[in-house]
Amino acid sequence: MHKLTLSFLLVCVSFAVVRSQQAVDPMIDQQIGSLLSTYKTLHAAPELSHYEEKTSAFFAKELRALGYTVTERVGKYTKPEWTSYGVVAILRNGAGPTVMIRTDLDALPVEEKTGLPYASTVRMKNDAGQEVPVMHACGHDLHVTAMLGTAKILSQLKDQWHGTLIIIGQPAEEIAGGARAMLADGLYTRFPKPDFALALHDAADQEAGKVNVTPGYSMASSTSIDIKIRGIGGHGSRPDGAKDPIVLAAQVILGLQTVVSRDNSPLDPAVITVGSIHGGTKHNIIPDEVDLQVTVRAFREEARKKLLAGIERVTKGTAIAAGIPASLAPSVTLQTEFTPSVYNDPALTERISVALAKAIGKENVVPSQPMMASEDFALYSLDEHQIPTMIFWVGAVDPARMKQSKEAGTLLPSLHSALFAPVPEPTLRTGIKAMTAAVLELMKK
Ligand SMILES: [Zn+2]
Ligand SMILES: [Zn+2]
Repeated sequence: MHKLTLSFLLVCVSFAVVRSQQAVDPMIDQQIGSLLSTYKTLHAAPELSHYEEKTSAFFAKELRALGYTVTERVGKYTKPEWTSYGVVAILRNGAGPTVMIRTDLDALPVEEKTGLPYASTVRMKNDAGQEVPVMHACGHDLHVTAMLGTAKILSQLKDQWHGTLIIIGQPAEEIAGGARAMLADGLYTRFPKPDFALALHDAADQEAGKVNVTPGYSMASSTSIDIKIRGIGGHGSRPDGAKDPIVLAAQVILGLQTVVSRDNSPLDPAVITVGSIHGGTKHNIIPDEVDLQVTVRAFREEARKKLLAGIERVTKGTAIAAGIPASLAPSVTLQTEFTPSVYNDPALTERISVALAKAIGKENVVPSQPMMASEDFALYSLDEHQIPTMIFWVGAVDPARMKQSKEAGTLLPSLHSALFAPVPEPTLRTGIKAMTAAVLELMKK
């Protein structure tokens, strides 16, 4: 009798496991048609960072219809004239873990050249008041759609999980302001503070059906620095009667490269890029000043601090060597709001990777290299990685196209390219399946 009961129980348990894994596919089948049309509608109607009004309202409306408790316009920017279109949607399902999953909402000032029937022709005003073309060139429209698909399935599978599920729609990811704005507006005090936070992003270099996972540091911190180099202007024919800030700027730019190659440990990946240099007006005038804009990338905070100190030292020291008087010393101004590195909590990443392998096949979960790009999703883990977080990458490239480009040695359009055209259906299916499996792993009964 005992034995019989046990084997009956085992059958029930294994049936339940199989059921939870298989249940998701027909649920995706059932909504894929409407999700594809949602995706195409969103793709054709992108909105710039700070202006995600319609996208956020649509996202909120859909989540409300699924039974989530939704709060709109969450977020506080540093400039009061900007409205934050952050969305927080909560589905409570008894006692249990609190898990937050995030999609971004914004698009980019890029003129779409994909030629797709649902390509964007939108133009809108940016923060500076200039009219610019707008495109979902980073795939945040895919993220929104995948999140809605996941939200629906999880609302239908409430018997399989417990706890509090929080879905957020974050504005202004592309200018790294939205996460900070939402946290500043009480994301973790007005709403439940999560035990775990997850996000996905589409990948322009991975085929649809596969997911990239990187444990530990996976994306770099990003710090923006403005350098003003001052000299003493004069006639271009009389350098001895001036202090030339153009030559000094050139020396500083080359000197900065030795901060990475000589000061920084070769075991700490780092980048210093001078992305902008402006100075002077005419062939024969030595100007008074030159402006540089610099981006610094690193993983570890100690490495970032060392790079920043090196930049200040090289810039100021080079000016002293050029005989610039102390009153005209260069200014090195750090933008205070930097984006920290994304750290995929290793234990969480391992746990999610196993769940993803079960859901989409082990061969489709691909360990991948960290990258020096940055993401403000990093901020949700708070200082010193208090909250375990993880972002994974969902392949968005047609496998046939990927094979073709490998064979021909041609480059695929990257994220932010005017030609980036993710293949919607398999990317959405994998994204939804992966995110659903990840949440169920963390919240399962
Ligand atoms: Zn982007
Ligand atoms: Zn993006």
